Amino acid sequence: MAALTSSTIAVIVLSQASIPIARQIVNTFPNATLYGLEHRTHGADRAFTQFGETVRELFSQGTAIVGICAAGILIRTVAPLLNNKWQEPPVLAIAEDGSAVVPLLGGLQGVNDLARQIAAIFEVAPAITTSGDIRFRTALLAPPKEYRLLNPDDAKTFLADLLAGATVKIEGDAPWLVESQLPIAPDARLTIKITEQGDGSAEPKGSAGRADCLVYQRTSIKRLAIVGTGPGSAEWMSPQVKEVLRSATDWIGYQTYLNLVEPLRTTQRLHVFDNREELERAALALDLAAEGRSVVMVSSGDPGIYAMAAAVFEVLERDQKPDWSAIDLQVCPGISAMQAAAAQVGAPLGHDFCAISLSDILKPWETIADRIAAAAQADFAIAFYNPVSKTRTWQLDKAKALLLNSRSPDTPIVLARNLGRPGQQTQVKKLGDLAIDDADMRTVILIGSSKTRVIDRADGGVWVYTPRRYD
Ligand code: SAH
Repeated sequence: MAALTSSTIAVIVLSQASIPIARQIVNTFPNATLYGLEHRTHGADRAFTQFGETVRELFSQGTAIVGICAAGILIRTVAPLLNNKWQEPPVLAIAEDGSAVVPLLGGLQGVNDLARQIAAIFEVAPAITTSGDIRFRTALLAPPKEYRLLNPDDAKTFLADLLAGATVKIEGDAPWLVESQLPIAPDARLTIKITEQGDGSAEPKGSAGRADCLVYQRTSIKRLAIVGTGPGSAEWMSPQVKEVLRSATDWIGYQTYLNLVEPLRTTQRLHVFDNREELERAALALDLAAEGRSVVMVSSGDPGIYAMAAAVFEVLERDQKPDWSAIDLQVCPGISAMQAAAAQVGAPLGHDFCAISLSDILKPWETIADRIAAAAQADFAIAFYNPVSKTRTWQLDKAKALLLNSRSPDTPIVLARNLGRPGQQTQVKKLGDLAIDDADMRTVILIGSSKTRVIDRADGGVWVYTPRRYD
């Protein structure tokens, strides 16, 4: 599955009616581009004039092709190029209304996984026809990108034996097979063997010609992804973050954040932060990745907002270790607490706003106080992160006093606690009534601007919003 997200995907449409479906697909995959036929479509990322030439060129470059069109057109278009099944990229036909998702080519490049992911968007069953895939829920010939099948020529017989009822044993660590329905038995004749790159146990020649054993080599991936889980609940976690977590070998983060993602864990090793040594932990994450592990640094909310992404870059710049230069570094965004809080009550951040952390651990209180005063004067709506902690109890009162110098005590404020987690609470109050007991370290506070409005909602509660017009 991981192989797919790294290759590029072209979603191709021939008529305007297909654009909404195509856009939904493009939005799901970070590397997808929407190609629209010129004069017949608008709103695509790229326009083309010659369908056949465009598709053949993309296909030759190894781009996965998702055509919102009839299967036959796609097959006829690429037919002259079909000569190497190991090379061909995924090709899928999708019905204009999303009701059918048909993988056509590229079984060895993960077309069935791509079909499953697209079918999930439209909540339909993908039209998967490969027996191995259906029966065993795994594509043995298309492993994730960090595994390489060393003896593909033996695979046909191996699969035929499996389909005929043979059982199989697994030697080594194969997390992508954990949820498969392979007929696993300890005394099986067939073997799937996983070896690490460089351990010398699986030179291709040693196993070639043995159709009773498929050998996969795990390549060093050297990856560090810094991900944001969103505030808590799984529905607020992006599909990209879930996928990156699943395909990793190591997770690193505070216990509370690791707990949020525990349901997704299969074989990943955990490295729990037990103190505030964030730079040390960032260096550990980089070292683990440099050793060839696939590491995920887990933050809550967004990883770039008062979280670990900046810590990783600080250490990267400070230490400049040559070992770290080969790491594939990636930041995967998440929904930040202020966004989740705003969504609970309407649109309080609907116009210009800023975020200020009230923690004076990493910056002096004078800086914080200056920023609060400036933001209040400039009439920004404000999101306060880290409003109080067990040891920091006076900052919120000071912040309130600073705000009241230039903002009315009637200004609406929102206190949102434990968003997306058990005990979620959201309160709307007036700035003048803000009390220290209203907040703890799991509360984010939104302060309205002078234009922020509170309106009644049908269920007896209120909506809070800041209008877009500001005059
Ligand atoms: N990276 C996080 C912020 C980490 S700083 C994000 O983007 O959301 C920690 C502060 O974020 C907390 O003190 C609190 O103010 C806020 N916060 C984080 N998770 C929260 C949640 N689930 N509910 C309410 N506030 C939260």
